[in-house]
Amino acid sequence: MVRVEMLAVGKELLIGKTMNSNAFWIGRRLAKMGSMIKEITTVDDDLDEIGAALLAITRRTPDFLVVVGGLGPTPDDMTLKGVARALRLRLAPSEEALRLIRAHYAARGMAEPEMTPPRKKMATLPAGSAPLKNEAGTAPGVRLVAGRTVIFCLPGVPVEMRWIFRRSVEPEIRGKVGVIYRRNVTMRLLGVPESALAPALATEVKRHPGAYIKSHPRGAAEGVSRILIDVVVAGADRDKVDQEGETIMLELKAAVAALGGTVGAVESSA
Ligand code: ATP
Ligand code: MG
Repeated sequence: MVRVEMLAVGKELLIGKTMNSNAFWIGRRLAKMGSMIKEITTVDDDLDEIGAALLAITRRTPDFLVVVGGLGPTPDDMTLKGVARALRLRLAPSEEALRLIRAHYAARGMAEPEMTPPRKKMATLPAGSAPLKNEAGTAPGVRLVAGRTVIFCLPGVPVEMRWIFRRSVEPEIRGKVGVIYRRNVTMRLLGVPESALAPALATEVKRHPGAYIKSHPRGAAEGVSRILIDVVVAGADRDKVDQEGETIMLELKAAVAALGGTVGAVESSA
């Protein structure tokens, strides 16, 4: 299993000012390709905290770490400084990043943009890292390698993060994950309380350790309890994935019937 972690940087995420929608988006995107975020860490805009989080994560040697936020030109944007400090790398101007920033302004009609200190800051990267093109904004993303882990640093602004993620992050992660088929099944159960269903679900989870089987209680309507069950099976062999999805569905249907409940709608998608 390819392990991906995320480090979100920004006080606004900790004080309830901004929802970490970037985590939501990246999580969904990875799940779609048959992977997932293993762990999400969120820290304040603080050099020591960014550094400490980075060290703790790289010690767990994930395959990929996606760092989001704090790449901009303002003084509270200190992600690259924190990353460089934690990994003991020099921060140095990157010719390639300068070129990307100049091209960004040139595309907006500024042929010779003045390289002000804030603009230079966005082109100052940890030694050995590569800038990633950002057509949705100014600050380039950054790719670097620390031991076993490929680290991507992306801007926090969602539209910029998504642009760089699609172009530079996703292809690399997908290349490592390989082609994975997924089958999603959602079953709507009626008339079985969750507590009664629990042992049957536990048996099913044990029988199919690679599958994701999760119940979501949906309350009761007119005294009849309603539960939604999500089943996700993923793997490289499409026939096997389909077969296992089908088997789980049949076994769950039988278990529900034995408990006196019924299965209403079943939605299935690849
Ligand atoms: P900029 O170049 O605009 O300064 P940046 O990389 O420095 O970008 P931040 O300063 O951390 O990013 O955040 C910019 C904006 O993006 C914030 O106002 C915040 O609303 C939003 N943002 C940051 N992180 C997230 C996140 N994880 N999820 C959703 N929105 C976020
Ligand atoms: Mg910023």
